[in-house]
This record gives sequence, structure tokens and C-alpha cells, in this order.
Amino acid sequence: MRICDEFCSQCGDKVRFAIPEGDDRPRYLCDVCGTIHYQNPRIVAGTLPVSGSKVLLCKRAIAPRKGYWTLPAGYMENAESTQQAAVRETREEACAEVELANLYTLIDFTTHQPGVYDFSR
Ligand SMILES: [Zn+2]
Repeated sequence: MRICDEFCSQCGDKVRFAIPEGDDRPRYLCDVCGTIHYQNPRIVAGTLPVSGSKVLLCKRAIAPRKGYWTLPAGYMENAESTQQAAVRETREEACAEVELANLYTLIDFTTHQPGVYDFSR
């Protein structure tokens, strides 16, 4: 995913792609207002809701993979812990209230696309 690859979201001037002083990787830089546009992976949090011997799954209503079964999950919001995000996303995606026990797994697929999945149980 590329954002801010042409214009600065702070001042609207053109940005350049270069390594900022004191950094070790290239970023989008605005020479006019000095903003460094960091691009970090988005974190997805979800749950593995279990009740007895049953697991609650959601059927995807949108692309990608529309119609496939999945665990309730979604992107974290600012000022939210992964646990809070997992509970909120489960409520939003599955209309289910869950009680978290412990971290079930953490899936890091940043080599394929920016993001980390954190599933609580
Ligand atoms: Zn700027």
C-alpha cells in the first residue's frame, strides 16, 4: 500500500522519497513543512469465539473473499488495545459479546502485505 506518494497531506506540496536524517529506511518527506510520512503496518485484531464445542464464524459480505467463512476481526482504531479492538470487532462483525481468555495466535504476514493479525480466544 502506498500513501502520500505524491503530495503532502499536511501542506499539499510535493513529497520526495528518501531516507530522513537519523533514519535507516526511505520515507515520504515534505521539504516545505518538514513532515515525515511514516507508513506502518495496520494491525487487525479478532477473536476465536468458542461456546462449548462450537466456534462462531462470520460469512464475509464484502470482497476480498466474499462468501467465505472467517473469524470476526478488523482493523484497530487509535487509542485502542488489541484486546479492546478484538472485542469491538466481534461485537460489530458478529453481534456477539465475548470474554477474552488469552492470546490464541499472532499471524504476521507483512512480507505479503502490510499487517499483523492478533486473535484472542
Ligand atoms: Zn508538507
